[in-house]
Amino acid sequence: MNRLAAVALAVLLCGGHARSADAAKSAPKPAAITPAPTPPYKPAIRPGGRRIVALDIGHTRAQPGAISATSVPEFEFNQRIVQLVKQRLADSKVAEPVVINADGGPITLPERARRAALAGASLFIAIHHDSVADKYLQTDEASGKKQFRSDFRFAGYGVFISRKNPAFDESLAVARLIGAQLEKNLPFATHHNEAIRGENRPILDSERGIYEYDDLIVLKAALMPAALVECGVIVNPEQDVLLRQPAMQKVIADAIATGIEQYFSAK
Ligand SMILES: [Zn+2]
Repeated sequence: MNRLAAVALAVLLCGGHARSADAAKSAPKPAAITPAPTPPYKPAIRPGGRRIVALDIGHTRAQPGAISATSVPEFEFNQRIVQLVKQRLADSKVAEPVVINADGGPITLPERARRAALAGASLFIAIHHDSVADKYLQTDEASGKKQFRSDFRFAGYGVFISRKNPAFDESLAVARLIGAQLEKNLPFATHHNEAIRGENRPILDSERGIYEYDDLIVLKAALMPAALVECGVIVNPEQDVLLRQPAMQKVIADAIATGIEQYFSAK
């Protein structure tokens, strides 16, 4: 997959609203990255039997994904949750976290998956925050610059998995564990199921908030079980406030970390 195609799909992922596309066009182009060959993949097992989970921070500083109702880039939300999941797993007896794209520099989607394989990861978890379809975004220019907001009905989390991942059943297993933790405190955001262009994602498990999205590049490029978590809808002003609160960030990170630990513990 070339870089431009990867960027186009990355924009679709978090709702594909106009500002993400604009940001992608105006952002400085990352330096050309020569695809490196992928070495034979072998999951690592650490002393004590701990397995490695790759925590992928969605998007980059230059192409930060969706923009919240108060203009906070999605990348910053994603980075915070990954930091908290990493902290939460620091003393885990079953999981050892490795962060992909910690500095937010230029990186292709296949490269994220390749780095997880190089690290010997047994599991790949991508962290994102969500947007909505363009037609649901209202433009607010009162502050002198364009802001995009959705109404309050778009709220909650979603866990995405791909049938093109080589370990679909395992991906579903970990998605169910993470989704079961998240649904204790958050609603499932069902808007990606709407029958409109850019959405239409089949729901695999409505109780645990799981969608099928076969062509998500990081999920199908990952050589290990993989899931992508949209933690909340940051274009919704109410959710934007909530998702910036440290207490809510901790709830989300704890839920994801617990799901990861349960998955490894069941091995
Ligand atoms: Zn995203």
